[in-house]
Amino acid sequence: NLPFPSDLEIAQDAKLEPIAAVAARAGIPEERLEPYGKHVAKIELDATSGGTATGSKYVVVTAVTPTPLGEGKTATSVSLAQGMAARGRNAMLALRQPSMGPTFGIKGGTAGGGYSQVVPMEKLNLHLTGDFHAVTAAHNMLAAILDNHLHFGNELDIDERSITWRRVLDVNDRSLRDIVVGLGERTDGVTRQTGFDITSASEVMVILSLATSLNDLHERLARIVVGLTRSGEPVTARDLKADGAMSVILADAIKPNLMQTLEHTPALIHAGPFGNIATGNSSVVADYVGLEHADYVITEAGFGADMGAERFFNVKCRTSGLRPDAAVLVVTVRALKSHSGRYRIVPGQPLPEGMLSESPEDVQAGAANLRKHIDIVRSFGVSPVVAINAFPTDHESEHEAIRTIAAEEGVEVAVHRGVSQGGAGATDLADAVVRACDEPGRLTFTYGLNDPLTTKIEKVATEVYGADGVDLSPAAAQQLERYERLGFGRLPVVIAKTHLSLSSDPGLKGAPTGWRLPVREVRLAAGAGYVYALCGTIRTMPGLSRHPAAERIGFDESGNIQGLF
Ligand code: ADP
Ligand code: MG
Repeated sequence: NLPFPSDLEIAQDAKLEPIAAVAARAGIPEERLEPYGKHVAKIELDATSGGTATGSKYVVVTAVTPTPLGEGKTATSVSLAQGMAARGRNAMLALRQPSMGPTFGIKGGTAGGGYSQVVPMEKLNLHLTGDFHAVTAAHNMLAAILDNHLHFGNELDIDERSITWRRVLDVNDRSLRDIVVGLGERTDGVTRQTGFDITSASEVMVILSLATSLNDLHERLARIVVGLTRSGEPVTARDLKADGAMSVILADAIKPNLMQTLEHTPALIHAGPFGNIATGNSSVVADYVGLEHADYVITEAGFGADMGAERFFNVKCRTSGLRPDAAVLVVTVRALKSHSGRYRIVPGQPLPEGMLSESPEDVQAGAANLRKHIDIVRSFGVSPVVAINAFPTDHESEHEAIRTIAAEEGVEVAVHRGVSQGGAGATDLADAVVRACDEPGRLTFTYGLNDPLTTKIEKVATEVYGADGVDLSPAAAQQLERYERLGFGRLPVVIAKTHLSLSSDPGLKGAPTGWRLPVREVRLAAGAGYVYALCGTIRTMPGLSRHPAAERIGFDESGNIQGLF
């Protein structure tokens, strides 16, 4: 019921440029392109990858605490890139590749929205160039080598109950969460309990996103810890001699994929780590390629600023050495209304009664959440720009209420209508971001790598989330102590909590105070290079709903794909 055609209709109507033309305008030489059909190409990494052209600006797009519907970070990223281009600036996008699990689950495709999308959206949302399948294959190669090692006598003396390396598949399938392998005869392997995660939850996916080169990719794969020996020593992919094969499987996957927006702005699509247990950010190498060629590289960090952006700064930027020049903080009228605590949005159901009526008071009542996210971005020494993502159902007075909050905080603010108007609707936002990039800033991390792991978790909880402190379960305390002892104490941390609240309770809206972060369990991602703390139950293999999007996806009579939104 939007006043413009559906995302899929707009995307299917689009006139695309040949990908070589998009690359040529971006200054990417033809020798570096590996075309995959007419509209997608991989870009070869070369010796210069990692360099930043002088003066190139690096912009991260984050958001307030979202509703379950999402507040339009991807849509705003695409709008902003097109808005920059509409202003004659040389901009490039760097975004995650969507996972097929959620595409066929509840979400349908993700490519932005309306007149701000990455195309061809069918390719983006389906296999693209097969990077996810390569991650799946590399991940499962390690699992196969591990089980084979157990089968042939377990020379490394691996404690089977300590094995944390599972298998992955890019599908939502709850039946695979807990399984037993090795049933059958003696020749059919060692019987043990294990399970599957979705490919975007694979540590290999995070490694693909954080690797700074093919060499670094190999080193990180080698450092993956699959479990412990019976005497408590870590067992790595290198010990199992799996790292070489895994890196060979990923040789093409490490190259970023070039696509375009509806207005032919170049878009690098690369890697797709989960936003909860992983980093939720697209790849470092894509950002390197972008910064070599574009004046403005715009990348998105998953969920709100407490989640994806915190990891973008503390983990991704620390790994890449890149320093962002500005952060765009996406806010919607519906998000602030939901942070008033007066409405509860349930996915798949119509918006609650009264939520669409004009009410700047409701928006004002949710202001605490926006103010807290502004503080979070500023705590990293980066200039925020508040981007009001305008929905057709918004009222002028409600945008005004958000402008007032931003003005009180002394932050640049702009409304954008990129979804209904394309780049022409996002030129004010583009101008505001250009100004913010020119302000001096200096990236500050929340914690130092020499801080003990427990201190790192405490600093994120108190200084970023606004918790009073952290409550470690006995198991979590023991695991932290063990990782310190085994030499992993200098790694950064990722905290897996709900993205629907600044707190660990999805029901708490606004900017909750007077709460403590409960850490149930701590795990190690030695190859990706962080330790992660689980607060509550975090699903790493989603299930399908009773009527998944898959039931509506198919071909129409003329052979066009339908149902991808
Ligand atoms: P995020 O990246 O923050 O999760 P998305 O950009 O994927 O959010 O947007 C979430 C959903 O909302 C998508 O279905 C998108 O098409 C829709 N959407 C985003 N912005 C708008 C808008 N301004 N008007 C209408 N729909 C929008
Ligand atoms: Mg997104």
